[in-house]
Amino acid sequence: MKTSLLLVALVLYGTPLFAEPSRILCQHSTITVLAETKAMSDVVCEAVQVGGTFLRSLDLNLPDNLTIRLSRKLPKNGQHGSLGYYNATHNEIRLLDYEAACDADKTTPLFGIPMTLAMWRSVVIHEITHAAAQNEFTTGVPTWAASEYIASVVQFSTLPEAEQDKIKANYPGISGFASSAEISLIYYMLDPAKFILNSYLHFCRQGNGSGFIRELLLKGLPDD
Ligand SMILES: [Zn+2]
Repeated sequence: MKTSLLLVALVLYGTPLFAEPSRILCQHSTITVLAETKAMSDVVCEAVQVGGTFLRSLDLNLPDNLTIRLSRKLPKNGQHGSLGYYNATHNEIRLLDYEAACDADKTTPLFGIPMTLAMWRSVVIHEITHAAAQNEFTTGVPTWAASEYIASVVQFSTLPEAEQDKIKANYPGISGFASSAEISLIYYMLDPAKFILNSYLHFCRQGNGSGFIRELLLKGLPDD
């Protein structure tokens, strides 16, 4: 009896199964996070802080009044199989929360190894980078593949070193794109993890770095 009462009490007053998301404004920013728990919005705000610092080193800034909404599911019009996306029209990022992302990762592991909180945070950073790059491209240039390159670079650069090493060890044959001609959207779609690592290693090569990012923002890349 006591045990079942305790269970009822836990169900009623413990972590709610379908809590209304709470709205939190990340410190020193105009970014709003909608998440079920404070722990989750804290990770998102940390991503905003860490990602934002790296973005500023590339002369990129997050748009004002961006909303980041976490949920257990993404609307059906989300990109197929993705953990999240940026909607420029609504200035909003939709992301699977950590728990849902871990579940999705069991069938399609993002980096070929089990998801960690740091990897999930890197997905947040990937999406905020799309938001930061969006308005920096020259009007009319093809942006899709170029934006994936930039998002990949910021995502991987801001991962803790231990996570970077684990991922690199999982893809020993990857040494970075040899030229910008190899940076294609189809490759990103087929194998995002290898695209991300190839982008990062290409970015790190002497002569590329932030100069290459500026070139991408100026000229874009073919979206095929
Ligand atoms: Zn992306």
